[in-house]
Amino acid sequence: MTAPNHALTGAVIGLAVANPLAAAGLAFLSHFMCDAIPHYDPPGPDGVARLSSRRFLYEFLVVGAVLCLGIVLLLAVARPQHWFTAALCAFLATSPDLFWIPRFIQARSKGTERPTRNWFLRLHAWVQWKTGEKLIWVEAVWFFVFGTLLIHSL
Ligand SMILES: [Zn+2]
Repeated sequence: MTAPNHALTGAVIGLAVANPLAAAGLAFLSHFMCDAIPHYDPPGPDGVARLSSRRFLYEFLVVGAVLCLGIVLLLAVARPQHWFTAALCAFLATSPDLFWIPRFIQARSKGTERPTRNWFLRLHAWVQWKTGEKLIWVEAVWFFVFGTLLIHSL
C-alpha cells in the first residue's frame, strides 16, 4: 500500500488506542495487514523497471513523502489528544517500507534487482500477494475512509 495510506492508518490507530505502547505495536503491525490487502503498485514489466523508473521515484517517494509530512503537520497543528503518539504511529506504520531503501538504491544505480535472502524483505514481499496498477481505486477508497476518520478524530 502507498506510504500516505500507511501513515493515515497509523495516525488513526495512535489517536484511537489509549495505551501508547499498544498503539505503537499495532501501528507497526498494521503495515503488514494493509499490505496484505490487494493494492496499487506502479506499472512495469518487472521489479527492475518498477524500482528504477522515474515514475516510481515521483509517485511513491516524492508525492508519498509530501503527503506523509502533511499528515504529521496536520496532527501538530490541530494537536488533538495523543497527537504526538499519532504522529509516531504514522511513522511506525510506514517504517517497514524503509527497509526497501538499499534495494531501491541498488536498482537505481545498477539497473538490476536481485532476489533477496533477507527474511524480513521476503516476508514483506510475500504478504503483498496481489498488487497492480488497476488497484489504484483501493488506495483512493482507503485514503478517503482513513482521511475522514483522521479529520473526525481531530
Ligand atoms: Zn510495505
